[in-house]
Amino acid sequence: MAVVPYRRLFGPGPCNAYPEALIALQQPVLGHLDPAFIEMTDRVCDGLRTVWGTSNRYTMPMSGTGMSGMEAAFANIVVPGDVVVVAVNGLFAERQVDLAERMGAQVVRVDFPWGQPIDPEAVATAHPNPKVISAVHAETSTGVRSDLAALGRLKGDALLLMDAVTSLGGIEVAVDDWGVDIAYSGTQKCLGTPPGLAPFTMSERAYERRNPRPHSFYLDVTLMGAYVGAAQGPVRAYHHTASSPLYASLDATLRRLADEGLPNVWARHQVAGDHFQAGLQDMGLELFAAEGSRLPELTTIKVPEGVDSARVRAFLLSEYDIEIGAGVKDLASKVWRVGLMGANANMASVTLLLGALQDALKRA
Ligand SMILES: *Cc1c(COP(=O)(O)O)cnc(C)c1O
Repeated sequence: MAVVPYRRLFGPGPCNAYPEALIALQQPVLGHLDPAFIEMTDRVCDGLRTVWGTSNRYTMPMSGTGMSGMEAAFANIVVPGDVVVVAVNGLFAERQVDLAERMGAQVVRVDFPWGQPIDPEAVATAHPNPKVISAVHAETSTGVRSDLAALGRLKGDALLLMDAVTSLGGIEVAVDDWGVDIAYSGTQKCLGTPPGLAPFTMSERAYERRNPRPHSFYLDVTLMGAYVGAAQGPVRAYHHTASSPLYASLDATLRRLADEGLPNVWARHQVAGDHFQAGLQDMGLELFAAEGSRLPELTTIKVPEGVDSARVRAFLLSEYDIEIGAGVKDLASKVWRVGLMGANANMASVTLLLGALQDALKRA
């Protein structure tokens, strides 16, 4: 058997999976219309409603990673010519612009400096009558959290679309309370599950205004809804062969999170992130994300003057089996991105990371 190395995944995702999620992968494969698979699907959709904070019928795991969730969000809502306002403060918001344009939207972008949160007021007033307002809750390219609840209060008649790939299962997400209409995530970030599924949710209001015939068959929310029982209960219609091992893995994670209690899960991420960020500053390192908007689960560190960013990352990988991320675009060699997500959000990780970084800065 070819064996891959055991890495400590402290980059921007994937993270090391929860043990429950890995053990569940070893269960037998089920047919996609097996009663046991249907039961599991129901549990997964209900568990996702809990972590999303929603009662939306159209809540389901899309097959594919976070990007399939992003693609599903835009494909199911945009009809060519629709006005879509996008708040842009990082790489993933740039991708939202790209996807909206591919679906034929007339995009109004509102730009903010990377490292800063979005200004909800400026976004909400950028166009008098957009169909969709779109933003990223946790920008993984910069380590910044934006206030989507505030944007929800200001959205007016528009539909609010939220990227929650790096927030779901890590910090509070409350789709219904915040007035979010369409949201997507991925399993391999704070949900601590292997990559391959994209939790997705859509309000009734959004469903009524959806694109009734999206270009994507695979990600069509109506067809997927019939598959997971969103619309008609127990009767299921074949749509595609969902991966039962991945569903089982997510099922196990959702149960684990419910047992721990979501507020405790968020607190665990917050405590780890706070200690890590304080420890970095004690070491004399500077953080990139604006103070007050820093994500606990993803920290951006400024690479100190004279330090070779890539060498430090290579040293951590070879000496400690630790993966951390480089920056993206203009920040490529200027920041490191360090994730404390899912199973890695704990004090043992913080101590290991601070020690390893100290060693790397000395010896790399
Ligand atoms: C990782 C990420 C994505 C893309 O998810 P993939 O699982 O890599 O397809 C989208 N948005 C944000 C904010 C992310 O961090």
